[in-house]
Amino acid sequence: MNALVDFHCHIDLYPDPPSLIAECDRLGIRTLAVTTTPKAWPQNKKWTEFSTHVRPALGFHPQVAAEREHELPLFEEYLPEARYIGEVGLDAGPRHYQSLDSQLRVFRRVLELCALHPGRIISVHSVRSASRVLDALKELLPTERGTVVLHWFSGSKSEASRAVDLGCYFSINRAMVEGKRCDLIKTLPRDRLLTETDGPFTNLGARPAKPADIPVTLIGLASLMGIGIDELSHQVNLNLQALVIER
Ligand code: MN
Repeated sequence: MNALVDFHCHIDLYPDPPSLIAECDRLGIRTLAVTTTPKAWPQNKKWTEFSTHVRPALGFHPQVAAEREHELPLFEEYLPEARYIGEVGLDAGPRHYQSLDSQLRVFRRVLELCALHPGRIISVHSVRSASRVLDALKELLPTERGTVVLHWFSGSKSEASRAVDLGCYFSINRAMVEGKRCDLIKTLPRDRLLTETDGPFTNLGARPAKPADIPVTLIGLASLMGIGIDELSHQVNLNLQALVIER
């Protein structure tokens, strides 16, 4: 049977992270626990130390980059012990546009450090900044040095095809599948697709979405792509395996 995959979930922002991690293990949901600040790394690492299915990621979220730029040395200190990086990236939406310079300094430094420690898998935020993110990847992270998973990608078709050429994967959530730009998803190569919840920042009904809700995304994505749910789930498992294999 195929495992469920939630490749972008903020486990540490739910009220009871250890019980959510236990639920992922019990239900066999392969989950990437992304974080927002380098300071969060030790606690997330501890929570997931004995987890069979949840892996922690060292993060530096663009929306806090400006106020936390001083945590860059901490990011650098923890990087050697983190195989997964995220959430990192850029956010040029109206609420965060004014911190873009600081975001760029942080994101560029993150990519430089990842290039120095090859083999990292990086979950990247790119709100209204797909081209800027792709420019930075092309300049600073040679494809053989690390792999990027674009989380909640909302760029154009040509940006998507640039991302594919740079070796990027895409983690797809339910809001994307049900959104008005879902046509773009159909154009992405099947062997680059993963699933995510981005919980607790997305909802299912009146409550925050959680990893166990991934089947809802699988159902929507399979129907969008015109393939069976099992076939899609199998493909996502193959993709995750290809992504995490040591190279
Ligand atoms: Mn997120």
